[in-house]
Amino acid sequence: MQELYKQLKEFGHVKINESLAKHTTFKIGGPADFFIEIIDNQKLIELLNFVNGAGIDYFILGGGSNMLFNDQGFKGVVIKVRTRKLITENNIIMAEAGVLLSKIVVEASKNSLSGLEWGVGIPGTVGGAVRGNAGAMGREAANCLEKIEMWQDGEVIEMTKEELKFSYRDSCIKNKGGVILKAYFKLVPAEKQTIMTAMTGYLKQRSGRYPAYPSAGSFFQNIDIAKWPGDLKALPEIFVERKKVPIGWLVEQLDMKGFAVGGAKISDEHGNFIINYKNATQTDILTLIETLKEKVYNKFGVELIPEVEIIN
Ligand SMILES: Cc1cc2nc3c(=O)[nH]c(=O)nc-3n(C[C@H](O)[C@H](O)[C@H](O)COP(=O)(O)OP(=O)(O)OC[C@H]3O[C@@H](n4cnc5c(N)ncnc54)[C@H](O)[C@@H]3O)c2cc1C
Repeated sequence: MQELYKQLKEFGHVKINESLAKHTTFKIGGPADFFIEIIDNQKLIELLNFVNGAGIDYFILGGGSNMLFNDQGFKGVVIKVRTRKLITENNIIMAEAGVLLSKIVVEASKNSLSGLEWGVGIPGTVGGAVRGNAGAMGREAANCLEKIEMWQDGEVIEMTKEELKFSYRDSCIKNKGGVILKAYFKLVPAEKQTIMTAMTGYLKQRSGRYPAYPSAGSFFQNIDIAKWPGDLKALPEIFVERKKVPIGWLVEQLDMKGFAVGGAKISDEHGNFIINYKNATQTDILTLIETLKEKVYNKFGVELIPEVEIIN
């Protein structure tokens, strides 16, 4: 343990038995054996080569805003990516993976570049947003991403947007693994005032919709209309137009807002938000979501798929 601690210190700031609850917006998670924060891209590559070569278990953490760790914690090394370089050249913003999404949204608006307005108010890093194809207001990361630089099995490779096979809250990185190092966003010049007005509008739409308690955002992916087993005519028209059945609506039909297990609860404000309202454990959350999944399946015949990354 002491030897590994010394080796890890070569790459960044290391903590032993660091509570993961402190590093996630859900405020849930036991201790990580080792927790290392990396601010330099080259050090990140070297660290990945080291842990990979030595066969040490590791987990990549961005902003921790889409994570549900278990209560026992993580046996191995949690690598918190805090790389921060951000360069704007012509219409392209290059951001290292640890840059906050909110930071590139502001950077784009300052430079009168449009395409990232939807990201206003979404927590987390560029790395997390690209891997999970984060989105809001009918837009998503894939819309303006050009390419990424990624570490995979000891190599640094470039992948284009097409190669990343983006779909709703998904990219091939989820299956293939790989650590995003940098992302390049191709934006469109626009009036600064128009960009600012759009962002203010989006922020207004978001305000009041989200509970004040710790959460990881929407817990489940909304249902693709093509997978809806029931009669589409029985659904509100807007769902068919938007091609998605919102989970919040299913929860309302089941009258399950406010349903609680231990310290976990379905938010009263937003039916797709599971909140940690009173020292919830991962077990509380998992028990709650199993009950919800079962009820949704029994009534509507659809399977709920988590958007949140669950580490059992
Ligand atoms: C209040 C609230 C509101 C939210 N609203 C939205 C919303 O409107 N739209 C939306 O899409 N999401 C939303 N989210 C969810 C969350 O903010 C996004 O999914 C975000 O993009 C996650 O980024 P992160 O850096 O926090 O990732 P993390 O939670 O740290 O990690 C998530 C996954 O990405 C992986 N990962 C992180 N960085 C890298 C990297 N560099 N390379 C490879 N893999 C990596 C992790 O290993 C993990 O598997 C919300 C969350 C909260 C708490």
